[in-house]
Amino acid sequence: MLEIKNLHKYFGDLEVLKGIDLEVYEGEVISIIGGSGSGKSTMLRCINGLEKRNKGDIIFNGKNVKHGQKEFIKLRERIGMVFQHFYLFPHKKIIDNITLGPRVVQNVSKVESNEQALKLLEKVGLEDKAEVYPAMLSGGQKQRVAIARALAMKPDIMLFDEPTSALDPELVGEVLQVIQTLAKEGMTMLIVTHEMGFAREVSDRVIFVNEGQIAEMGTPEEIFENPQDENLKRFIQSIY
Ligand code: ADP
Ligand code: MG
Repeated sequence: MLEIKNLHKYFGDLEVLKGIDLEVYEGEVISIIGGSGSGKSTMLRCINGLEKRNKGDIIFNGKNVKHGQKEFIKLRERIGMVFQHFYLFPHKKIIDNITLGPRVVQNVSKVESNEQALKLLEKVGLEDKAEVYPAMLSGGQKQRVAIARALAMKPDIMLFDEPTSALDPELVGEVLQVIQTLAKEGMTMLIVTHEMGFAREVSDRVIFVNEGQIAEMGTPEEIFENPQDENLKRFIQSIY
C-alpha cells in the first residue's frame, strides 16, 4: 500500500532523515520507536505531505505523492493522521469537528456526514458527547474524537504520532484500546509510540529509528527479546 524509497529530509543544513526505506502492506500495523529527535515525526509528516521531502519517493496506492501535483490533495485525504496534541476546533461541537472534513473536502451531505459521525463516536465510545464542545472533554476523550475525525475521511492508512504522550497515565488505556480495535478490524497503521507493551502486543512489525535511519526492523519478539543494534539495546534498557 505504501512504499518509501530512499527518503531524505533536511532542515537547513541538518539532515534529519538519511535514506529511509520501508514497505507497508495492507492491514499491517507497524510501530515506530526511537529516541527523541531521531526523526520519527518528520518521517510521518513527509509521508502525509505535511513536510516536503528533499529526496526519495513515497508511493501510496501506486502513485508517487508529490507536492504541487493535482492528485496530491486527493492522495492526502486517504492518509489519516492523529497527533500528540489533538488539534480539535475549540469553537465547534464534537459532531461538527468530525463532519467538517467530509462536508468541506468531500462534499458529503449534512445528513449523511452526521449519521456517519455518530457511528464513529459510538465506535470510540463517545456517542453521548456529540453536542458538547472540546473543552468539556478529558484528554483521552479528545484524542478519541481526533481518531474519529480522522476516520471520517475514510482513510486507507492511519498515522499516529505519539497519540498518548500528552495524556495523564490513567487516560492512556482508553485511547490504546480504540487503536487496538482498529488493528483488529484490519486498518493499516503506522504508530509512533513510547508505549512498549502496546507496541509489542499490537504490531506486526516494529521499526527502531536512530539518527534519521531505520537502525533495526523486525517482529515485536525480535526487537524486544533479541535486539541486535547497540543503540536499540540501550534504548530498550532506558525504557524499562
Ligand atoms: P522525533 O519525532 O523522533 O522526536 P523529529 O522528527 O520531531 O524527531 O525531529 C528530528 C530532528 O529534526 C530534530 O533534531 C528536530 O529538532 C529537527 N526538526 C524537526 N522539525 C523541524 C523544523 N520544522 N525545523 C527545523 N528543525 C526541525
Ligand atoms: Mg516526534
